[in-house]
Amino acid sequence: MNEKKDCIFCQIISRKLPAEIVFESEKIIAFKDINPSAPVHILVVPKKHIKNLSEVKEEDKEILGEIQLVLSNLAKKFKIEDAFKVSVNNGKEADQVIFHLHYHLMGKFKS
Ligand code: AMP
Ligand code: ZN
Repeated sequence: MNEKKDCIFCQIISRKLPAEIVFESEKIIAFKDINPSAPVHILVVPKKHIKNLSEVKEEDKEILGEIQLVLSNLAKKFKIEDAFKVSVNNGKEADQVIFHLHYHLMGKFKS
C-alpha cells in the first residue's frame, strides 16, 4: 500500500509495530485500542494511508463500504451488536491524534 514511514498505524499494518489484530482482509485491518475507553474498543483501519474522512476520494468508495461491514461483523464477533458506538475523530480540534483514518468501535458500557 502507500505506507507512511512515520505513521503508527502504517507500522502496525506492515508488522513493524505489534498490535492485537482481530480482523484482517486485503484492504482493512482491525486491532484492539491500546488505551481502551470501553471494555470492547477496537480500531477499524483501512490499509491505505488516508489522513482522515476529509481526505477520502471517489476511488475509496469500496474501502469505506467494507469498513461498515467489518464494523457490523466485529460487533457480532465481540457480542456487542445490541449496543455499540462507532466514532471518527476528524481533525486536530476534534481530537484526532493519529492521522491515519480509523473508526472506533466501542461496546459493553455496563458489565
Ligand atoms: P484518535 O484520537 O481518534 O486519533 O485515536 C487514536 C487512538 O489510537 C487512541 O484511542 C489510542 O489509544 C489508539 N492508539 C495509539 N497507539 C496505538 C497502538 N500502538 N495500538 C493500538 N491503539 C493505539
Ligand atoms: Zn498510515
